[in-house]
Amino acid sequence: MARFCEVDAKHTNATFRRYIHRALDALGASDREIAGYTLRSIEDGRVRIDELSDLTCADFQRVRADLPDLHLTNADYGKLKQRGSAVAKAIAGAIDGYMWSNRIYVSRGQDPVRLASTLVHEVNHVLNRSEVGYYDDLPTSAFLHEYRAFHAERLFDAASWAGTDLVDYVITEYELDRSKIPASVLAHPLTPALLPTETAWRKRAVELDEDEPADCTP
Ligand SMILES: [Zn+2]
Repeated sequence: MARFCEVDAKHTNATFRRYIHRALDALGASDREIAGYTLRSIEDGRVRIDELSDLTCADFQRVRADLPDLHLTNADYGKLKQRGSAVAKAIAGAIDGYMWSNRIYVSRGQDPVRLASTLVHEVNHVLNRSEVGYYDDLPTSAFLHEYRAFHAERLFDAASWAGTDLVDYVITEYELDRSKIPASVLAHPLTPALLPTETAWRKRAVELDEDEPADCTP
């Protein structure tokens, strides 16, 4: 039995599966509550995980829009799939992970605990439908979604975040205008849902998410 579902099940390889399995093992070895729930969510197929080179065509367009500095073009989608692709490298250089709907994409080359942390982060985004709420009321909406996801990471891997002011970190990392975020939000930045529990997934109803073709359909 597969330990996780891929976005593009037809396009897989043993190296990638091993890479993900090591992170799943790191989640399994953790005594943190959020690690257990995240692992269970992945094993139950609530989310699908793949590498950045397996972005669906529409997800590639979204990444393109989110990363204007990379100057990606339409034609680059075809290059993404090539071995040793410079396009794939450029995207992986800019982001560790990406999500849309229940699809999670991760860059290669993260150590198992870092990758496990990325999975905790992205599963939290899926649980909270970040692709819907993120852009509602910028910059506050993006701040809330990222703060929650990074808080989730910190619950899993406290050591890596020791001494980091998470509010400052999110504002800096995402180049948000602090003056446009209400002081009340900055004072109480954590909003639900935090843990990917059975109850939280029932509310999220991920099975109703629309499926997207892996490739571009003309
Ligand atoms: Zn995020």
